[in-house]
Amino acid sequence: MSDVPHHNEDLLALAKEISMKDFHQPFLHHCKYNSRLKSVGGRYLLTTHDIEINWHYAHKVGMNGLIDTIKHELCHYHLHLAGRGYRHRDQDFQQLLQKVNGIRYADREALPSRCYRYEYKCQSCGAKYLRKNRINLKKFVCGKCHGLLSLVSELGPNHG
Ligand SMILES: [Zn+2]
Ligand SMILES: [Zn+2]
Repeated sequence: MSDVPHHNEDLLALAKEISMKDFHQPFLHHCKYNSRLKSVGGRYLLTTHDIEINWHYAHKVGMNGLIDTIKHELCHYHLHLAGRGYRHRDQDFQQLLQKVNGIRYADREALPSRCYRYEYKCQSCGAKYLRKNRINLKKFVCGKCHGLLSLVSELGPNHG
């Protein structure tokens, strides 16, 4: 599918349009492609309030999939700015997502199969380990120094 916007300006225009149409509020930050995003369709950045879209993902899922992804990220955006529950587990988030007919999860078929969700770090040497599934920290230790591992981040399939 190649009907998705090619340039960041057009992607931004699309995000602004969806924001007005479905959320009745303007989107005042940046929305741009990030070709380095791998395991997620898009992400909302809490620090800058910008939205980044996985370029490869957008080109695979096409316009409808892209609109769904932008809607999802806009739910994070508007709730976060309004000081409401912007995380996936928050009721505010789930209700708003439903209201705008957004999607909870990215289309996994369009993401690389090596889609890591869990990031672990060795407490002794700092080595990082990316895993698809949770690991039992009582059973597994660092392969380099046998130090204890700890979970440092858990990535949702739809945002980073
Ligand atoms: Zn180690
Ligand atoms: Zn999300």
